Amino acid sequence: MGKLVIIPTPIGNLDDITFRAVKMLNECQLVYAEDTRVTKKLLNHLNIQNHVVPFHAHNEHRVLEKCIESIKSNELTGLVSDAGTPGISDPGYLLIRACLKEEIEVECLPGPTAIVPALVASGFPSERFHFEGFLPHKKGRETRIKNISELDCTIIYYESPHRILKTLKQLLKILEFDRKACVAREISKMYETYHHGTLSSLIEYFTENKPKGEIVLIIAGKN
Ligand code: SAM
Repeated sequence: MGKLVIIPTPIGNLDDITFRAVKMLNECQLVYAEDTRVTKKLLNHLNIQNHVVPFHAHNEHRVLEKCIESIKSNELTGLVSDAGTPGISDPGYLLIRACLKEEIEVECLPGPTAIVPALVASGFPSERFHFEGFLPHKKGRETRIKNISELDCTIIYYESPHRILKTLKQLLKILEFDRKACVAREISKMYETYHHGTLSSLIEYFTENKPKGEIVLIIAGKN
């Protein structure tokens, strides 16, 4: 019976790949990837030649079944996303669940993910936190924000530069008071920046300075 290995890849700085990830990318017989072009670029950089096959978030049951058969017939199958840890706001969950259902062993290597450095460097309490991932683009945003409004632990969102202002404004409107917040941008990349402030001061800043790059938004819990 084969094994599925979840392989985290860098979120910016390519030096953040772990020795085990490189070893596994070499050793597995097949790598399922979110976007094969992105993964092939990484493998080229690492001088690794391996068989890269696309795995999409909305794989139909039929496709999932085929993946399971192939995982069973190989000794080791890798799963990567474009950046960070597969399964964290990235494809992976359906395949992992299907493997576990079939009693296929699943191992997730520790490695890069944007949540952890953003939370830790924000300086907000990290002994308890709530990860909200992405807010929906249109419907359901308000409800999702209302749902977290009473939480007394640090709250983390993934956000795009196109929507960060809208999100900050909506949070300020729905949450009872002007919470402390931090916008972590371009973690591990050349223009990595942490903007610390309140929802209103961050709105002011990003109204004057166009938000760019990949963003994690951290906000203080109630109290
Ligand atoms: N699987 C990834 C992980 O483990 O963090 C997350 C993938 S999700 C599709 C992409 C989002 O993660 C971005 O929109 C951004 O919110 C966050 N992100 C990824 N890389 C980042 C970086 N270098 N700096 C800041 N945020 C990042």
